[in-house]
Amino acid sequence: MTMPDASPDETPVRLGVVVEAPQHSGLVGMLDYLHAVPLPPGTLVRVPLGRRMVTGVVWSALQPTAEAQLLAAESLKAVAEVLDGLPALPSVWRQLVNFAAAYYQRGLGEMALMVLPPELRQLDAVQLQRRLKRLDKTLASDATTGAPATQHAPPDAPQALLPALSAQQASALAALAVGGARPYLLWGSTGSGKTEVYLRRAQDALDAGQQVLMMVPEINLTPQLEARVAERFAGRRIVSLHSGLTPAQRLRNWVMALQGQADLVLGTRLSVFTPLPRLGLIVVDEEHDPSYKQQDGARYSARDLAVYRAHLEKVPVILGSATPSLESWHNALPVAEGGAGRYVRLDMPERIGGGDMPRVRLLDQNHVLKATMGQEPPPLSRPLLDAIAQRVERGEQSLVLLNRRGYAPVLHCSDCGWKSGCPHCSAWRVFHKADRTLRCHHCGFSERVPRACPDCGNQDIQPVGRGTERLEEQLAAALPGARVGRIDADVTKHKGALEAQLASMHAGEVDVLVGTQMVAKGHDFRRITLVAAVNPDAALFASDFRAAERQFALLLQAAGRAGRDADVAGRSEMWVQTWHATHPLYQALQRYDFAAFATRQLQERQMAGMPPYASLAMLRAEGKTQEAAQGFLAAAATAVQDLVARTPEAAGLMLYPAVPTPVQRVANIERAQLMIECGQRAVLQRFLSEAQAVWLAQAQQHRRSGLIRWAVDVDPLAI
Ligand SMILES: [Zn+2]
Ligand SMILES: [Zn+2]
Repeated sequence: MTMPDASPDETPVRLGVVVEAPQHSGLVGMLDYLHAVPLPPGTLVRVPLGRRMVTGVVWSALQPTAEAQLLAAESLKAVAEVLDGLPALPSVWRQLVNFAAAYYQRGLGEMALMVLPPELRQLDAVQLQRRLKRLDKTLASDATTGAPATQHAPPDAPQALLPALSAQQASALAALAVGGARPYLLWGSTGSGKTEVYLRRAQDALDAGQQVLMMVPEINLTPQLEARVAERFAGRRIVSLHSGLTPAQRLRNWVMALQGQADLVLGTRLSVFTPLPRLGLIVVDEEHDPSYKQQDGARYSARDLAVYRAHLEKVPVILGSATPSLESWHNALPVAEGGAGRYVRLDMPERIGGGDMPRVRLLDQNHVLKATMGQEPPPLSRPLLDAIAQRVERGEQSLVLLNRRGYAPVLHCSDCGWKSGCPHCSAWRVFHKADRTLRCHHCGFSERVPRACPDCGNQDIQPVGRGTERLEEQLAAALPGARVGRIDADVTKHKGALEAQLASMHAGEVDVLVGTQMVAKGHDFRRITLVAAVNPDAALFASDFRAAERQFALLLQAAGRAGRDADVAGRSEMWVQTWHATHPLYQALQRYDFAAFATRQLQERQMAGMPPYASLAMLRAEGKTQEAAQGFLAAAATAVQDLVARTPEAAGLMLYPAVPTPVQRVANIERAQLMIECGQRAVLQRFLSEAQAVWLAQAQQHRRSGLIRWAVDVDPLAI
């Protein structure tokens, strides 16, 4: 990388370079540097910052410095080297980063550098050049040996055998073909063949010489989809982008995308920022999934950014789900029906292959209670146990869903009332029987289970409540001879354990599988004829207004695991063990009527002034004490009173009082939050960007009184 020498009589150019600015430094992250010649915006450079050498992105090419500005320019440092082995980042990429930084209230530098591969930020020009050479060599040798995933398609490549399309798939594809570059909501029930629609539409884009960005919510799901995509598009270059890759793999795949060598990028939320010079289609699978929202740092929604990016790039974006987020549902409802009319909705209500969704049976625990003469009912009531035993006998499989891992959520001493609290959090420590530990799921603090009550010495301390570990034990005891397995975060933290457990499920070596929400997602089990939700009621009364929406999605997704083969579909059932069988959520679930559920939820949200009828932001604070956290929030609210007063009254900007978060202390840090609500998104955005400056100054003052950190969360998922 030879840098062009500036001849002494030439005036250097002044460039705006975006560098990573420390969080809450108040710096936007754009600094001026000098360089001998103009560089196109998007060029990656190495520049001195303090005593370090850092990677930056040229953001603006300013005019050669005029005579009068030279004085000021003298104090400016020069660009150290240009990483010109790579093409400049496309202008659309910079627009997307600009938008994301402004919308999510983060510094431009922080946002821009955060979305580059971590490894890229470490390399100087020589190191990068070496990497690029190695990549070129691999690509060249792949091309000669014909390695499938990295070979470019010869025009006469044999086509993979395509499955026949159902009528609803064909009509969705026809609508996509004529609809052009717009957002689409592909609302298809589980098993309706949404993936096939993505793949066919992707094929069209690839055939037109375009790149495709396909997003999925979880790393766990990428291997399955990756295999399917690789099989379908043999001969195309397919790369994945997610946090499970090594830094070197991630850089390599990102470079292939930027250089236009990758045809299809399959990735999790971070892939929304992948520079793709010939992008032709974006797909967001399971668009309702909360994992599309980043939960720390720059809290962006990859789903929403995908829609914005598609608009910038003038390409179609397909959001797919069986249970769309209510925001997307509202966006896809025609204006005449009270919706926003922004998306085109494509409906695919039927399961492929004629398999019906399982019949939903609501098992009223109140009746069970009467039958057990007022005693506490067993974990699984008799009719449900019998139904599972029947499946075991027939050689069919059952899935039992309990969204709580561990053996029991708390240990309790009945003599003195001691409970297994976490000394560092306002939460109980969960009893894990397998390794005899008490573990806090919030801070990770773990200890061996005491032999006796630490307060009174009573040897008889008892588990209270039930997690997946205990349910597995109880089911094994109640169903002698049945093979009971379990999948949850405890089982799968060991590498390869999830794959092994899934394989034995597929091989029919497990009769009853107990699991958390993990098992409800995406897995294509063929022999399941019974799915049971054992304790789903908590979500009905949660303070979080999105809890019902999430629960409905989870239960429907779980139901979708049953009866995937037509020969077992007829006798497939979903059991819901509940104390509130008449609740509208369960009534809608029983009819698989998402539309009715959504309509009702939207009515409630409209009355309560909640999204999508209002925009929310959450000002979050962490402090050494609860007073410190809340004190900052209260002061922050007072400090922006005049800003609030200046917003149009019709916009209805509201700041709520500061309150502790649902789990207020984690790892000895106290957390509080303050909700900001506004009827008009643009007004909220303007307010937040003005308020930021005020809050930065405010935060400086509160450091001394114990404020640790604070952040604005725009469009928060959890409240
Ligand atoms: Zn005790
Ligand atoms: Zn803890």
